[in-house]
Amino acid sequence: MTYPANDAFPLLAINQDRLWARHMEMARIGAIEGDGSCRLAMTSEDSEARTLLAKWCRDAGLEMTVDGAGNMFAVRAGRDPARAMVASGSHLDTQPHGGRFDGVSGVLAALEVVETLNDAGIETDAPLGVVNWTNEEGVRYGPGLLGSAWYAGLIDDDALSRVRAADGIFFEDEAKKRGWLGEGSDKVPIGTFVELHIEQGPILEREGLQVGIVTSVQGLVWLDVKVTGMDAHAGTTPLDHRQDALLAAARMLAALNDAGRRCGEAARVSVGRLTTATDGPSTIVGHAEFVVDIRHPDARTLAALRDECASICRAVGEGAGCEVAVDERISVPPTDFDQRCIAALENGAVARGYDHRRISSGALHDAANVAKIAPTAMIFVPCKDGISHNVREYASPEDLAAGTNVLMDAMLSLAGLRTQSRS
Ligand SMILES: [Zn+2]
Repeated sequence: MTYPANDAFPLLAINQDRLWARHMEMARIGAIEGDGSCRLAMTSEDSEARTLLAKWCRDAGLEMTVDGAGNMFAVRAGRDPARAMVASGSHLDTQPHGGRFDGVSGVLAALEVVETLNDAGIETDAPLGVVNWTNEEGVRYGPGLLGSAWYAGLIDDDALSRVRAADGIFFEDEAKKRGWLGEGSDKVPIGTFVELHIEQGPILEREGLQVGIVTSVQGLVWLDVKVTGMDAHAGTTPLDHRQDALLAAARMLAALNDAGRRCGEAARVSVGRLTTATDGPSTIVGHAEFVVDIRHPDARTLAALRDECASICRAVGEGAGCEVAVDERISVPPTDFDQRCIAALENGAVARGYDHRRISSGALHDAANVAKIAPTAMIFVPCKDGISHNVREYASPEDLAAGTNVLMDAMLSLAGLRTQSRS
């Protein structure tokens, strides 16, 4: 049967109070001033959070496995052993000045779905899984999204064994010491993955929506731009006799921003770092370098925007008498999520009458890695003023509950529901 289109089976609702109370209890671990959380991966705080999650999962009757990257999988058995697991989750680690919701909400929402089904006595054909991916934030150990990258085969055992913190401690040694490293390199099989996450941006709140159905994670290109003019005396060199690399760079920055705006709402063009070869108030800058961070959910538009940004820099440089070199440093293609998973989430939002829209994710998420090997999609919950990676991060109990209800609908639809066992 399909869920939720059935008169005989009214829509279940998750327990909003329990979900919220779990957020607050988790936030006590690594609590910092101003409602924040600090749980860097594989620290004692992260370990304590994992222990609490494991206890909750055990209490809910789930079977816990930890894999070779420390990813936690808590499994609720299905009725059909041949069916692959429908999993959901996110991460419990945080930024140094992180909030109570980034990642945490996705793990606790998955657990809440399972507990709601337990309460209602509902079984599914496929097993359900609650996942905590290791080291999403990549603060102490780089790269970020470490656990899901290893899980999806994007980094191998060798690369994982070389991951170490700035203080020299190897990730695997730390994980093992704390009891969070499984044996071997076998992966716990996932058939489908759906991740709930706070939006970390302002769009849903601005548009008064409860739920965002995430169709893709945008792609990213970094361009290294080097602008070379000539050092000169600020007092003796007339304005029309200069090859001012800093002035050229400033004009490039303004023109790059214009290009991003022309490309539409989904485009992002940013320069967050600019360095000059000289640093004196009376020297005309002869050399400047900066990095352009370009993002878009559509691969072709991203490529076109990259080319436009490169030619803008060359043209502006030429007009300013400077030489310009543009090199692509990083290119991460956009990830399109699975249509069936997207539809399952959207059906849930429609059935419940929630105001929603399709949206692309501006940030990277574990789901983008999992999408490389299994059908995957995400659901976004609004967060106040779009603030994240900040102690002031906030999502309301009502919005978290709405998102978790939609997550439950999607998981039931993907896992196959058996109503006859309902008590
Ligand atoms: Zn996150």
